[in-house]
Amino acid sequence: MSVQYLSSEFDVVRNLERCVSCNLCVRECANGVHRIDERSRKLVVDESKCVDCQRCVAMCPTRALKIVKNENSFKENANWSADLISEIVKQSNTGAVLLSSMGAPKPTPVYWDRILINASQVTNPSIDPLREPMETRVFLGKKPEQIRRASDGSLDVSMEPQLVLETPVMFSAMSYGSISYNAHESLARAAQELGVFYNTGEGGLHEDFYRYGANTIVQVASGRFGVHEDYLNAGAAIEIKMGQGAKPGVGGHLPGAKIVGDVSRTRMIPEGVDAISPAPHHDVYSIEDLRQLVYSLKEATRRTKPIIVKVAAVHNIAAIASGVARSGADIIAIDGFRGGTGAAPTRIRDNVGIPVELALAAVDERLRAEGIRNNVSLVVGGSIRNAADVVKAIALGADACYIATAALIALGCRLCRSCQTGRCNWGIATQRPELVQRLDPNVGARRLVNLLSAWRHEIKELMGGMGINSIETLRGNRLMLRGIGMTEKELDILGIKHAGE
Ligand code: SF4
Ligand code: SF4
Repeated sequence: MSVQYLSSEFDVVRNLERCVSCNLCVRECANGVHRIDERSRKLVVDESKCVDCQRCVAMCPTRALKIVKNENSFKENANWSADLISEIVKQSNTGAVLLSSMGAPKPTPVYWDRILINASQVTNPSIDPLREPMETRVFLGKKPEQIRRASDGSLDVSMEPQLVLETPVMFSAMSYGSISYNAHESLARAAQELGVFYNTGEGGLHEDFYRYGANTIVQVASGRFGVHEDYLNAGAAIEIKMGQGAKPGVGGHLPGAKIVGDVSRTRMIPEGVDAISPAPHHDVYSIEDLRQLVYSLKEATRRTKPIIVKVAAVHNIAAIASGVARSGADIIAIDGFRGGTGAAPTRIRDNVGIPVELALAAVDERLRAEGIRNNVSLVVGGSIRNAADVVKAIALGADACYIATAALIALGCRLCRSCQTGRCNWGIATQRPELVQRLDPNVGARRLVNLLSAWRHEIKELMGGMGINSIETLRGNRLMLRGIGMTEKELDILGIKHAGE
């Protein structure tokens, strides 16, 4: 039973000297915070509905609005933070499991910020990326162990199928349904222009986007929504999603309210029905089962596409990755603890999994020790925030990175963490037509291309500073990294020295 005590996390501050009563904020806020009172005909606000998405602030023509945190909403102390109290209030209101979106916001250590990058001085000259060639192209997939020759002595250059990326960064899985048509189109167009890939997530592939197939990774998740032969053959690679960093060990849930029109057709499920994908794949309970699925997908696509297996970073990730590498997968994607999502149980998101930095280092080390590192490429995601994080990930052993939250911020997301409501005022995590049209895919694609072009320049600068001119030379080059403020154990797992050593 719902027993509501309302509280406001935010204050909506209106400067009455600036406000011209144009009522734009009433139209712009899908959460119904601003409205015109029927009796007084005056603008009034219901602050309890505000999620701090900043749409009204950005759109107000006279800059009359400000949203600020309501410092008095809860009486905090050292043990009971406002967040904890607010969660108790919400659960007592509804009796429901708390849902959240985007990545874990708690102050768990971000190891990227405790790792510093080397630069050349005196004896080992740096490389000027403006004047000298720098290679940022990477090939993802199985590599041969040695140079092979055919019986006539010529070089055997045949390779397992590879994904070729012009920059070692891809857009990770975001399903059509969790994000809008226009957000998907922005990602697809940007991936095509950048020579990288975007990922359908578990929502299937809208028929309009088959034309971007050469830059698309199609996902097969436990619900198998939207999966059919044409879909599998439409993309450049297939990703089997075994786990996700934001919610390891649980399945997916897209509320029925978002399963409308094309979303329901693309997922091949009825309108208005919740899309609940089970926690496990019901045909995968061992590495042998996974191997069967990998080879079934290879057969379904005539062995022309690399198979990615995506796993969440959890405690035994090195052993798990070792098994996945032996399953016939070509690429392993490791999704870290801080990874984003459209909707996840809050308690899972904030307490389950491990940071991707530690997971990556442990996996790379294990695969090398077992002599199977060349069997697979490693892609990491889960809060890759800028070009320096990409460079550090590659030096720790990754072949490429996945980004999602950074891409959404480029599209206009203000990290209000309300994607699960379906009322994204920026037209991203919504299916409401009047909100979707707020995101222009031309503008969205341009902003994504700008973002990754800027990162590519920065990656080249960082590599040049180290005297390195290709991603291939940087990969696994942990000598280029030093740690600060870490324990011996943490440095040991990361396989790097402390700054000063
Ligand atoms: S929810 Fe967003 S648009 Fe609505 S009042 Fe709050 S900041 Fe403004
Ligand atoms: S995508 Fe939209 S709803 Fe989700 S966090 Fe960003 S602005 Fe908020």
